[in-house]
Amino acid sequence: MSKFISKKYASLIPYEPGEQPQDQQYVKLNTNESPFPPSAKAIVKANEALKKLQLYPDPDCKVLIEKIALHFGVSRKNVVLSNGSDEVLNFAFMAYCDEDCPAIFPDITYGFYPVFSDINRIPYKEIPLKDDFTIDIADYMNVDGTIFIANPNAHTGITLPVNAIEEIVKSNPDHVVVIDEAYVDFGAETCLPLAEKYDNVLVIQTLSKSRSMAGARLGFAIGNEELIQDLNTIRNSTNPYNINAMSMAAAIGVMDDEAYTEANCQTIIENRAYTVNALKEMGFELTDSIANFIFMKHPRVDGEYIYKTMKERGVLIRHFTKERIAQYNRVTIGSRKQMEKFIKVLGEILEEA
Ligand code: PMP
Repeated sequence: MSKFISKKYASLIPYEPGEQPQDQQYVKLNTNESPFPPSAKAIVKANEALKKLQLYPDPDCKVLIEKIALHFGVSRKNVVLSNGSDEVLNFAFMAYCDEDCPAIFPDITYGFYPVFSDINRIPYKEIPLKDDFTIDIADYMNVDGTIFIANPNAHTGITLPVNAIEEIVKSNPDHVVVIDEAYVDFGAETCLPLAEKYDNVLVIQTLSKSRSMAGARLGFAIGNEELIQDLNTIRNSTNPYNINAMSMAAAIGVMDDEAYTEANCQTIIENRAYTVNALKEMGFELTDSIANFIFMKHPRVDGEYIYKTMKERGVLIRHFTKERIAQYNRVTIGSRKQMEKFIKVLGEILEEA
């Protein structure tokens, strides 16, 4: 760190993304990407956009916003786009939290939430999940702060039913409730109807997972018009061109190919069932994940040992050191071939252990 850094940031501990080795030597199941390439329509559109890169992209993102609005049955005034959903999550922390209005989220959830709080100098409160990693909605009734719920939750994949979230929303009419639905497309129920019904609900989704666009960095929020205006004020005060022309074009292509997205999600759901069955037979304990990953621990074999040994043998999964989940590993659901390799290597490790 230089001696010039502002004291605002001197003690900031940045978010640590999962490993991204660039040499493709691993079966890569560590950052919840899709194993499938982007839609062919996305590739055609992105190629066309390449030829016009001398121009700035449309700051209003008109075509893409219209496509997303149409897909979700909302008005385009209810949608804002961002550079990955991480960006609009950060906008939500900036817009709806401050020293008088802390951020509130579970102790086990997306690791970026505390970092967004810290960089914006927002106090935050982490509410412990129950022993089975579910949320007790009583903990979120009538709280004094902005609530962030990843649903399904990161890293457990457990989802809270929409009617339970509605109870939380109703009991906090003076605070925004942000529902991070990065993993909603693999069998969970969306809270979008709540965003239409209540003025304090913001639903955030991403094209990174179900739509195979992690590299394009495209996320969006849907909420009532005033909330979207708030987020646009922040977007336009930081980078009105936050969506680059190639990603925007690719996303337009992907939104035109819902059949491809649905088929890929269905395959992930099937591969998840296959993986869960195999893991249960091997004695693993699993949370009830309906995301594109599973969260597993073995009653006898150490979580970190499994992670490290898998890596040595060419399979990359995700291990977190936080004490409460240190025995667990999070494993992205990939193609059937990837999952077969994962199960095979894991079986060998268990036999030796
Ligand atoms: N929310 C959750 C719960 C996530 O796990 C992730 C992915 N790491 C994101 C949001 C951000 O995804 P992206 O920025 O790629 O849209």
